[in-house]
Amino acid sequence: MTEQPPGAVATPDDPLSGVPSAGAPGALLVVVSGPSGVGKDTIIDALRARPADPAYHYVVTCTTRSARRGEVDGVSYQFLARERFAALRDDGAFLEWAEVHGNWYATPRAEVRRALAGGRDVILKIDVQGAAAVKSLVPDALLVFVVPPSLEALFRRLRARATETAEQLELRQRNAAIELARAGDYDHVVVNEDGQVERTAERIEAIIRAERARHPDRRVVV
Ligand code: 5GP
Repeated sequence: MTEQPPGAVATPDDPLSGVPSAGAPGALLVVVSGPSGVGKDTIIDALRARPADPAYHYVVTCTTRSARRGEVDGVSYQFLARERFAALRDDGAFLEWAEVHGNWYATPRAEVRRALAGGRDVILKIDVQGAAAVKSLVPDALLVFVVPPSLEALFRRLRARATETAEQLELRQRNAAIELARAGDYDHVVVNEDGQVERTAERIEAIIRAERARHPDRRVVV
């Protein structure tokens, strides 16, 4: 099983791009969503740092937004120009795509298939629209929603992060309430309490383990 090199999005010539395929028995497609600023990146880093056998496969998704300071192409995201993104989308290279906070984001389909076929639990960090799209395409996907202890705490964290312009920050704050209203679409809701990243990661790990134990032989088709 070969891994995709960073920065590569499989094209339709990739045999795994076009045809639905079944993953290895037990391998899960896990979606982690939550409003901007809730701490998804830190939680997923903590989750990935925990020993899992086999290790989780985190999918580096594609975006048309500019890289923030410290973000690395192929590691944080695959940063794409809109033209390239549109061409890949039109070629069917994405499992789902959505416009979020004014930028385009998408999940590379072939990478998800390849990781599931290799028996890895796949982690997707995508927004509420992406989660709904994945659930309708892949009913066996496990949807986890991370929420802040309160809206005030969320806004405080977003402001402290200081990675957005005032206008972008306002848009993300407005969208947070809309996103939080979608919690009912998810299989599990986990509160990320202030300063409790490890605990949140542990709870998500326990949810994944329990799901694996419930369906040891199920093959998730993507
Ligand atoms: P950010 O710009 O803060 O990195 O991400 C904004 C939102 O886009 C977050 O909710 C993040 O989870 C979501 N996102 C990242 N990648 C994808 C993707 O491939 N598809 C969708 N639908 N949302 C994504």
